[in-house]
Amino acid sequence: MTTLGHLINGVRIDDDARTQDLYNPSTGVVAGQVSLASKATVEEAIAAAQAAFPAWRDTPPAKRARIMYRFKALLEQNADEICRLIGQEHGKIVHDAKGELQRGIENIEYACGAPELLKGEYSKNTGPGIDSWSDFQPLGVVAGITPFNFPAMVPLWMYPMAIACGNTFVLKPSERDPTSSLYIAELALEAGLPAGVLNVVNGDKEAVDTLLDDARVQAVSFVGSTPIAEYIYGRASANGKRCQALGGAKNHAIVMPDADMDNVVSSLTGAAFGSSGERCMALSVAVAVGDEAADALIAKMQAQMTSLKVGPFHDADNDFGPVITKAHQEKVCGYIDSAAQQGAEIVVDGRGVQVPGHEQGFYVGGTLIDRVTPDMTCYLEEIFGPVLLVVRVDSMEAAMKLIDDHEYGNGTCIYTRDGEAARYFSDRIQVGMVGINVPLPVPVSYHSFGGWKRSLFGDLSAYGPDAVRFYTRRKTVTQRWPSAGVREGAQFSFPS
Ligand code: NAD
Repeated sequence: MTTLGHLINGVRIDDDARTQDLYNPSTGVVAGQVSLASKATVEEAIAAAQAAFPAWRDTPPAKRARIMYRFKALLEQNADEICRLIGQEHGKIVHDAKGELQRGIENIEYACGAPELLKGEYSKNTGPGIDSWSDFQPLGVVAGITPFNFPAMVPLWMYPMAIACGNTFVLKPSERDPTSSLYIAELALEAGLPAGVLNVVNGDKEAVDTLLDDARVQAVSFVGSTPIAEYIYGRASANGKRCQALGGAKNHAIVMPDADMDNVVSSLTGAAFGSSGERCMALSVAVAVGDEAADALIAKMQAQMTSLKVGPFHDADNDFGPVITKAHQEKVCGYIDSAAQQGAEIVVDGRGVQVPGHEQGFYVGGTLIDRVTPDMTCYLEEIFGPVLLVVRVDSMEAAMKLIDDHEYGNGTCIYTRDGEAARYFSDRIQVGMVGINVPLPVPVSYHSFGGWKRSLFGDLSAYGPDAVRFYTRRKTVTQRWPSAGVREGAQFSFPS
């Protein structure tokens, strides 16, 4: 059985003082192991990034961008292998892994525009004979800490732009499915990144805490659950680092009485159950306005769900695969138990689903729960499984209040044919990413991605224009060239 190590200064190294099992969730069988980096190993990676920084900082942005073009081509050439690695450890179906990879590649395409994106600002004659300009300089060593659910895409939200801006990077992927993250980083080196510009350390809290405390790390990008995001933001900020920490979600869709219900049901099915609901943009709550809309939604959704196919990652006929671990399977089923105990109605029950030939896999079937109320545990917490809750309300105002009162504010959507209602909703709702008849309003790579409230700690969102600002600091220079000696006496007040 192989043990996955680290990538430091362009070399694969092992540090197997501590290891953790890697599972294939489709079969429930241990498929390998991953090293959990010690503090000393992480410090070695930081030192490699620090040493690579001066030369990389001075490399022209156009040359950095050319490496990104080659990196994109290598990812496309190796897409099948990358998707197999994602599926094997994460469990998502091959077509879903392809979509994830494509979204990641789009972030590289954006980073290829570094020469344009890093252009500064210039003002002539800000005073007599005085010019002023701002340029955007890299920070130094930057760290990225990423979640299990997008092992290819989320790291690609971070390091292509950070590196294209002239920073060097240490990535700490999820210890639950790190193989594809490491494989992709090796392709970035193959594309031409000098050794030390991109390093990968596998590990757990010990590795993360080392990155958060080391004074050489200038900034931290984090994506994961809200309690950890809050911890990362607090500790990194207390140590004087720039930090953006994206957290969990509970995304609601308002289903208005005038919505096209067939369209609602087909798009909600993909948005709720795709990737086993393990997406931070998964639509996990449908808020039906009026009992008539709720009854129609439940009836059509129940019928649609009879054709849902759950099974192993390599069978492209499946709609979604297993959840990530046995513990997570039990946690998701525990939320369904609690919903039943607290008075909700389990309309379609995914507990105990069996996939023939894969009885030990970590499967949960698609689950539909009606008559959920806002005080229930299943409503208050992020389930992160293939479970769709239905809450019934009397008005759009009541639906919006529910969303605004929830601790998370990542994504939301309204299904309606009423443009005025949609406009009111998108303008007022306290959520960062809003869809109008679009259930997963994930911004494209040239916008930025970020929730509100406890879905994002920090000021700047992930990728897109915000990433250029996050991974650079502005320097403003003011210059004057007196032609001969001092022309003015000392000035004791601002010129007026
Ligand atoms: P997680 O918070 O358990 O882990 C994320 C990272 O933090 C991993 O690299 C892990 O090693 C590290 N970590 C975990 N516990 C830690 C601790 N105590 N101290 C220091 N580091 C620690 O998240 P996950 O289960 O891997 O991912 C799922 C979560 O991520 C969900 O809540 C999901 O909503 C969220 N997510 C959010 C976004 C977003 O953009 N907002 C995107 C993807 C996933």
